Amino acid sequence: MGTCAVVGVNWGDEGKGRMVDLITEDYDVVVRYQGGGNAGHTVVNDHGKFALHLLPSGIFRDGVVNVLGNGVALDPENLLKEIGELRSKGVTITPSNLRISERASLLMPWHRKLDELEENRLGDHRFGSTKQGIAPFYSDKYQKKTILAGELLYPEKLKEHLKSLSEWKDLILKGVYGAEPYGTEQVEEWVDLYGGAIRPFLCDTGEYLKNACEKGKNILFEAQLGALRDLDYGIYPFTTSSNTLASYAPIGSGCPSIPVERVIGVVKAYSTCVGEGPFVTEMRGEEAEELREKGAEYGAKTGRPRRVGALDLVATRYGAEVQNASEIALTKLDVLSYMECIPVCTAYLVNGILTERFPFPDSLDAAEPVYEYLEGWMCDISGVRRWEDLPRQARDYVRFLEDAVRCPVTYVSVGPERDSIIFRR
Ligand code: GDP
Repeated sequence: MGTCAVVGVNWGDEGKGRMVDLITEDYDVVVRYQGGGNAGHTVVNDHGKFALHLLPSGIFRDGVVNVLGNGVALDPENLLKEIGELRSKGVTITPSNLRISERASLLMPWHRKLDELEENRLGDHRFGSTKQGIAPFYSDKYQKKTILAGELLYPEKLKEHLKSLSEWKDLILKGVYGAEPYGTEQVEEWVDLYGGAIRPFLCDTGEYLKNACEKGKNILFEAQLGALRDLDYGIYPFTTSSNTLASYAPIGSGCPSIPVERVIGVVKAYSTCVGEGPFVTEMRGEEAEELREKGAEYGAKTGRPRRVGALDLVATRYGAEVQNASEIALTKLDVLSYMECIPVCTAYLVNGILTERFPFPDSLDAAEPVYEYLEGWMCDISGVRRWEDLPRQARDYVRFLEDAVRCPVTYVSVGPERDSIIFRR
């Protein structure tokens, strides 16, 4: 089995949580390597329905060790809230099945506050942030102005560090935004309370993962969001502030020397996008309403209605390429069962020029979708479990996608439940 990454090929919300929950059966370790509490991975299993924000989706499986790597935006307050919620539903979470990198930086209350203040300042030009503090957090990390979780083990030095950061942040809160400062004392209390509670989970995740690898354990990397939200390769500036690509997984986990042997790119059977930014195949009006309703397209974190559109093969091909996907898991095929004729975008027309290549982000505003229309199957496929039992039109849809993306579809998901899956090897 070795190492595998489950990553998003599109704008996020492709159903990665559902895929990770399914395949963790074969893995010993599940690692989150980037992003933070802005994720909302939905998992439906015997314990109930959950929207996981920071915890890896392997947390429900007995015997699986879950790791939060150094690349994660570690918000101890929200993490502990999430742990509490899961425990109250019978899920066991202890330092034996959850390990947190001592090199992960802490997402502080001021990061959430600054995110909100900046989005409000931007008004109509806002990024559509989930206001979880992710962008201020990563900018501070690059400025070398965050606290590493491991510092919690050195209280005296931490006190000094905290004081200097808190004074600096208060200057920004007051001086730039005219907002209420936190004050060092309040921040110290916050760190004592939440930092203290996560201390038992801290370790050198690099050493842990290296040993796990040497012992032949199977490791699964779980990404947040999708390729088009990657800071370097996505639709900048409407990206997230971290790297969502599979190639970043070993770096953000603590073990740069471990290769990712298998990359499962998760693709939704149609396109959705949360927040601002260009979205070439966006549907509007009744057509959009219907697809949104059928697909229950509301954000797992915010409840915001997601923007919906036809499957964008130009974006999907690019996403699969930058993710270096070795295979595709196609989700939500069941949602399209109501469509008689399914539009699929195969190219863009940008200022009169036909292109199949995903262009530079700024030209996306001028891009018009070029559609092909595929025959719908018009029947419920949510109970189908074998490839050959899918209607011919549904199989043709999947084949059309894999030809266009040049990557084999190995899983077809036809419902949110763990077993609503067709294996196609
Ligand atoms: P993630 O962030 O990539 O894990 O995706 P989300 O959890 O935000 O969104 C996926 C949503 O689709 C969740 O509500 C899942 O329960 C649901 N889902 C996943 N796969 C399927 C599927 O094949 N069919 C249907 N109908 N729903 C699915």
